[in-house]
Amino acid sequence: MRKKIIAGNWKMNKTPKEAAELIETLKGGINTNMVDVVLCVPYIDIIPAAEALKGTNISLGAQNVYFEESGAYTGEVSPSMLKECGVEYVIAGHSERREYFGETDEIVNKKLKKIIEHGMTPILCCGETLSQRELGVTIEWIRMQIKGALNGIAADDVKNIVIAYEPIWAIGTGKTATSDQAQEVCGQIRQAVRELYGREASQSVRIQYGGSVNASNAAEIFAKEDIDGGLVGGASLKEEFVKIVNY
Ligand code: PEP
Repeated sequence: MRKKIIAGNWKMNKTPKEAAELIETLKGGINTNMVDVVLCVPYIDIIPAAEALKGTNISLGAQNVYFEESGAYTGEVSPSMLKECGVEYVIAGHSERREYFGETDEIVNKKLKKIIEHGMTPILCCGETLSQRELGVTIEWIRMQIKGALNGIAADDVKNIVIAYEPIWAIGTGKTATSDQAQEVCGQIRQAVRELYGREASQSVRIQYGGSVNASNAAEIFAKEDIDGGLVGGASLKEEFVKIVNY
């Protein structure tokens, strides 16, 4: 039985002071008995967030990482820097990073390898645009993203990662995929993992849905067979996140 995992992606929101305040507001209400809960905060908020999360079972996540260990990479942050600050999960390949920062499947693959090598868990994002959905190439596209991102990663590692299916047309738009649409793609992602890495990896890997998840649609989406929780953007910045986690 896979444990559900619900992660908040704060994106570029909250100063360090605001981050600590938001965690104080959220942590009392969040029930971590049945689900793993992760807060993926901006780099600058990682240290205050780690402090604010002490004594809770809520895990700390980052939204990005660089794939080199150290050196002349102005503006980047290495996996060991994150690890030392208590980061357990790292988002890789979010559609906003692919779109605005030119991240390719090859770059995402390098990041995934480093995240795993440093003992952290990647949250690998994939998803189609509206025109890809309308053209009927969603499944093909996502299979390609998964294959590219996981290239060269061992089945034993694949079974511990988290994959987030995030249709781009549903991110930050208030337009959610129906629970059936989300289930269809998450089921296909599990099938793709099975073909590439075998049954055990496909049954262990946790697959989230992301795209305008809120307190009113979470329960229906998370009830689907192949959906093991959610990656939540906008609603993770509000008290509503408590309701989503305690769905
Ligand atoms: C996201 O950015 O990962 C996301 C799912 O955002 P939102 O919930 O705001 O659509």
